[in-house]
Amino acid sequence: MILPHILQRFSALLGPKGYTDAPEDIAPWLTDWRGRYHGNAAAILSPANTQEVAACIALAAEHGVALVPQGGNTSMVGGATPPLDGSALILSLRRMNAIRSISAEDNLAVCEAGVILSVLHEAAHDIGRRFPLSLGAKGSATVGGLVSTNAGGTQVLRHGTMRALVEGIEAVLPNGSIYDGLAALKKDNRGYDLKQLLIGAEGTIGIVTATSLRLVPAVADRAVGWIGVESPQDALALLRMLEAKLGHIVEGFEVIADDGLGHVLSHIPGARRPIETRTPWHVLIEVDLAEVEGPSAGERLEGALAEALEAGIAKDATIAASDAQAEAFWRIRESLSEAERAQGPALQYDVSVPVARMPAFMIEAAAAAEKAFPGTTASSFGHLGDGNVHFHVRAPKGTTDGPAWIAAEGATINAFVHDAVVASGGSISAEHGIGQMKRAELARLASPARLAALRAIKAAFDPKGIMNPGKLVPMPGDEP
Ligand code: FAD
Repeated sequence: MILPHILQRFSALLGPKGYTDAPEDIAPWLTDWRGRYHGNAAAILSPANTQEVAACIALAAEHGVALVPQGGNTSMVGGATPPLDGSALILSLRRMNAIRSISAEDNLAVCEAGVILSVLHEAAHDIGRRFPLSLGAKGSATVGGLVSTNAGGTQVLRHGTMRALVEGIEAVLPNGSIYDGLAALKKDNRGYDLKQLLIGAEGTIGIVTATSLRLVPAVADRAVGWIGVESPQDALALLRMLEAKLGHIVEGFEVIADDGLGHVLSHIPGARRPIETRTPWHVLIEVDLAEVEGPSAGERLEGALAEALEAGIAKDATIAASDAQAEAFWRIRESLSEAERAQGPALQYDVSVPVARMPAFMIEAAAAAEKAFPGTTASSFGHLGDGNVHFHVRAPKGTTDGPAWIAAEGATINAFVHDAVVASGGSISAEHGIGQMKRAELARLASPARLAALRAIKAAFDPKGIMNPGKLVPMPGDEP
């Protein structure tokens, strides 16, 4: 429990706009997006600026109070959920939502941590630029959360993850000092790269307060296609063929199993099957041109797809006839997580393996999981071109008590799937992070060298252990 006189000091520091201990204000932020983790916190701290963040952290350090940073609370791994015992306060960055500057000339946006991704998209659009990272949670996910999870999304193939898009960072370190690294330097060899350490650190070594983000030219012309294929192998062959034909303009390439599409059609109002031919797998592709010169994006994609159909790699294909139709195709992809959640209890995995091995992994791991756990169904969707899919094992039909099923089977199924990932040379977290969900599995599967390095970095930055304790870094005793 955090003593009342300490809470009183936070309250006095932040004032009524920046401090709440009202249970009804706190309640919505105590559970993760998936509803898997529930926590408790005596108060939410909402600083208005970097200096207030620094003052909060200094006060927390003085009293040994743990802080759980939170942006949009869309973490898929319980990363922003406070511990159950009420030993931490939530540090919300949502109030720090200013775009400090945005420049088409510099191709740069300097955003505070609480800027919501879709707001940044609109601001970039208004100056003829775009921020080339998008994901299903774009209406809630914040820049600080995206940086802290090294988020990926649907454009990694062309533009990379947050690591490739963050040009500079401002952060408050666990001793309350402000690190001003916002300058977008192309070259900077002053030793360890603090920016890259903070990216993907899940709030365990500091609070990101602002970041300089790379913008790219707006899309002048685009084409979005939906293609039916027989297998993930054919999907990857299609990607390689299209890359060879179209060059560096393939922006997104997402693979969706037919059962996943079925769940979207069942649960998402207005969703419609893009092509009539029923194939076991589907590909959603977007090609983007920054300048209109020569054939249009649609003509280029059409030509390449005609060859893929001719070669038998694709079974059927359509190109969106309008922006509205293109958005409808993307809405299917972006609704998959929500539709899967509505479909019923499932265990979800965000995994990567080398791209060339991914098609075999998708088929073999699903078949093996279904055989090992009778009644379950397994399938995957996502970013095949990045070697990253979201792999789901759904509870047997008729399972009404999801939490009980997960409590009974979860650990065994987790180990089964993660062992398969490791056997294929992959990672148990491709883009969602470790949070609290995967900490024990990281402890079980990471090499001693990786574990020692993680723990040493955490201890060096946060010797008092006040920054998002229980997340990301395995604790002694987590190993089996
Ligand atoms: P939160 O959930 O609030 O926090 C995430 C983590 O970052 C926590 O550990 C938190 O403590 C820490 N944190 C938050 N803000 C800060 C800060 N300012 N400083 C330090 N630490 C901080 N992710 C992908 O990568 N690709 C996807 O395609 C994708 N699709 C998604 C689709 C849906 C429908 C949903 C719900 C989530 C999806 N995610 C995806 C996961 C999620 O959106 C991202 O992890 C996102 O980056 C989290 O942003 P947030 O603001 O909600 O952060």
